[in-house]
Amino acid sequence: MKKHNFNAGPSILPREVIEKTAQAILDFNGSGLSLMEISHRAKDFQPVLDEAVALFKELLNIPEGYSVLFLGGGASLEFCMIPYNFLEKKAAYLNTGVWAKKAMKEAKGFGEVVEVASSAEATYSYIPKNYEVPADVDYFHVTTNNTIYGTELKGDLDVNVPMIADMSSDIFSRPIDVSKYICIYGGAQKNLAPAGVTFVIVKDEALGKVSRYIPTMLNYQTHIDGGSMFNTPPVVPIYAALQTLRWIKAEGGVAEMERRAIERAEMLYNEIDRNKMFVGTVTDKDDRSRMNICFVMAPEYKDLEADFMKFATERGMVGIKGHRSVGGFRASCYNAMSKESVQALIDCMQEFEKQHTDL
Ligand SMILES: *Cc1c(COP(=O)(O)O)cnc(C)c1O
Repeated sequence: MKKHNFNAGPSILPREVIEKTAQAILDFNGSGLSLMEISHRAKDFQPVLDEAVALFKELLNIPEGYSVLFLGGGASLEFCMIPYNFLEKKAAYLNTGVWAKKAMKEAKGFGEVVEVASSAEATYSYIPKNYEVPADVDYFHVTTNNTIYGTELKGDLDVNVPMIADMSSDIFSRPIDVSKYICIYGGAQKNLAPAGVTFVIVKDEALGKVSRYIPTMLNYQTHIDGGSMFNTPPVVPIYAALQTLRWIKAEGGVAEMERRAIERAEMLYNEIDRNKMFVGTVTDKDDRSRMNICFVMAPEYKDLEADFMKFATERGMVGIKGHRSVGGFRASCYNAMSKESVQALIDCMQEFEKQHTDL
């Protein structure tokens, strides 16, 4: 049976990315050696890193003066590296979920943290609006896609301070105005590569402004100077990331990724809104994520949640269980998700409705 992979992360990747990476693990560039057993300083690997950086810049239209880094530690380590490198006195954070909260918690160890707004009181089911960002902060931190709650900031905000964004789960799903940010980061395992590599886009001239000592490995400048090779980088995930970047380019770039994301999201949200048995959990429809589509059983069908999970699983749906803090279902539809898989989930919802209601 075909599996439809709606996992939230690590998650679906284009089939050819997996095949090409598997091939390189068996034999890298016809060298007779595995990608896993070569030196990261081998002359064949440098071009992999260089091309990945170049494609990052090209696909996201990154202006001059920014560096692209591939690091370890996940987005979670960035929660601490961000304030280490950028927070001198005061930073503003938008609290849109658990990941934002974790980022804020780390920042509090480095300076004053202003929570400009929060939707915690409503289980983060919307993105706060109409708040003020103090003019004297070092940066304003946002989480553009809230993987757990299915809310997303689908454009770049207009604020008068430099922004920093956790884009772990929506990078490469839309064009970004990188010039508004001094740093954009994320774990690669949602939309780019297998787990193990973290991408960081950093504005060079925004560095070197804090007065504290920054430990070598936590200092972005170290990794800029070392070209992401200060220590051994995660070679296999970087190779896979390169394959994904090539795939995105060949498919038409981020504008095409956005078009597909909008199409998939409309299909599924239309069904959620139409189907009597389900309701979306995001209260402001403008905030609905294209990447993580969250829904629950309508109150009168609450008892059928486990039944629908079983029904869908039997039909090849994988990873649609909602995060425990939201419940219900979450269909993650990252870049590699096909329309056919989304349709297969919709078919399940419609069949289930036919079985349990008198339409
Ligand atoms: C998954 C996720 C994280 C955590 O990433 P790690 O690489 O596991 O540390 C952080 N932020 C967001 C938005 C995520 O989706």
